[in-house]
Amino acid sequence: MPSSGDAAGRRPHVVLIPSAGMGHLVPFGRLAVALSSGHGCDVSLVTVLPTVSTAESKHLDALFDAFPAVRRLDFELAPFDASEFPSADPFFLRFEAMRRSAPLLGPLLTGAGASALATDIALTSVVIPVAKEQGLPCHILFTASAAMLSLCAYFPTYLDANAGDGGGVGDVDIPGVYRIPKASIPQALHDPNHLFTRQFVANGRSLTSAAGILVNTFDALEPEAVAALQQGKVASGFPPVFAVGSLLPASNQAKDPQANYMEWLDAQPARSVVYVSFGSRKAISGEQLRELAAGLETSGHRFLWVVKSTVVDRDDAAELGELLGEGFLERVEKRGLVTKAWVDQEEVLKHESVALFVSHCGWNSVTEAAASGVPVLALPRFGDQRVNSGVVARAGLGVWADTWSWEGEAGVIGAEEISEKVKAAMADEALRRKAASVAKAAAKAVAGGGSSHRCLVEFARLCQGGTCRT
Ligand code: UDP
Ligand code: UDP
Repeated sequence: MPSSGDAAGRRPHVVLIPSAGMGHLVPFGRLAVALSSGHGCDVSLVTVLPTVSTAESKHLDALFDAFPAVRRLDFELAPFDASEFPSADPFFLRFEAMRRSAPLLGPLLTGAGASALATDIALTSVVIPVAKEQGLPCHILFTASAAMLSLCAYFPTYLDANAGDGGGVGDVDIPGVYRIPKASIPQALHDPNHLFTRQFVANGRSLTSAAGILVNTFDALEPEAVAALQQGKVASGFPPVFAVGSLLPASNQAKDPQANYMEWLDAQPARSVVYVSFGSRKAISGEQLRELAAGLETSGHRFLWVVKSTVVDRDDAAELGELLGEGFLERVEKRGLVTKAWVDQEEVLKHESVALFVSHCGWNSVTEAAASGVPVLALPRFGDQRVNSGVVARAGLGVWADTWSWEGEAGVIGAEEISEKVKAAMADEALRRKAASVAKAAAKAVAGGGSSHRCLVEFARLCQGGTCRT
């Protein structure tokens, strides 16, 4: 029998099962800390070693060091032959390897004495059956936007309704939310046989079997999508949805002792720096990197640019000078800092010298910009990033030129356009004020009595065997 926190009078033991990549691991770590230190739960975090990237392994080490109350539950994957998926993204391959190993979770959960699970969307359809066998409630932590959650929930219905018309995926009008234009649908979803699409559809179909869904957003950031999901407008029989974001940083970022970016930021005037980063896990083409470099240079503004030139950080051996074009680093030396280091992005965004965030709009970056009140200039490259850029623009947190290409599409975004957009956003007082008001709403949501705080309290109650009011 699984131990129930409520029936046995013990604290519930919530086992968190993240998938791979910092975009997934960061919010799982934050949820682990929030539940264990503020909401009366015992928490274990399932860990697969070796991690795909160095950033993940450093992040996990720092998390378990800083928060010993969060238990580590090592999970050994079954052997997996990746040659079935030539040239697939290494993180998607890890998703697939974890999915195929899901039956092995059963004994691990029994041994751990779990009373509830929360897993990642990428593992949903395979973890729910394991949880059922174990008699455990299985929740989902959706690490992307509520808009993306609504797309994930509705997409199978959309495909069923449009199957056979031969026209492929077009605009998707999500009931109760809004229309996501064809151009914003993640590229992979246009190919029904893509590994990501198969996982996405299977996971989307299984969402109604989850006990509850946590999503790292807050009411004021995505009012339509949160309300539609909570009211069951997107899919019938949908479980309770808890908008618990922005999940707060766990203050456990692994520091890179070589990196000097904070000293550099300290030396810059208030609100003068453009912070440029495209997240942890995708590479941008050399040609696009050089256009970006030229655009930043001609904008005339100061900038801190975090460059990643490979999908997985372990492979990143390229020299900055080579990547960005001859003489660039020397020419911008007085007003630009370019680094390949892992920066503490939360700390950077909170720094008073930072005025603008040129971002790929990975969802964690968006929630961090929202919490810090730094306006975003959206430069989405892949996956859910256009959907997220749409959220940013709707909320007034930033600006997005929706005609800009995806990464890998014909044509790159030119230096001149980038430079003009940077200059315009830096001069936009109304945008600055609006972003500051988003930050106020973000702070209100997570403060005692705020919408996200209440949702987390409700979720913890549910884990304790109580009833749910959401
Ligand atoms: N991040 C960081 N330092 C870096 C690069 C990324 O702290 O040098 C963090 C960032 O703050 C965010 C996460 O890594 O929490 C990246 O997640 P996001 O969803 O923004 O993008 P992804 O990497 O999944 O594309
Ligand atoms: N996603 C989903 N269903 C799945 C797998 C992923 O809804 O089966 C979401 C996931 O939350 C992610 C988004 O789709 O944010 C895009 O995935 P991608 O892997 O491109 O981004 P990342 O892993 O960097 O978040």
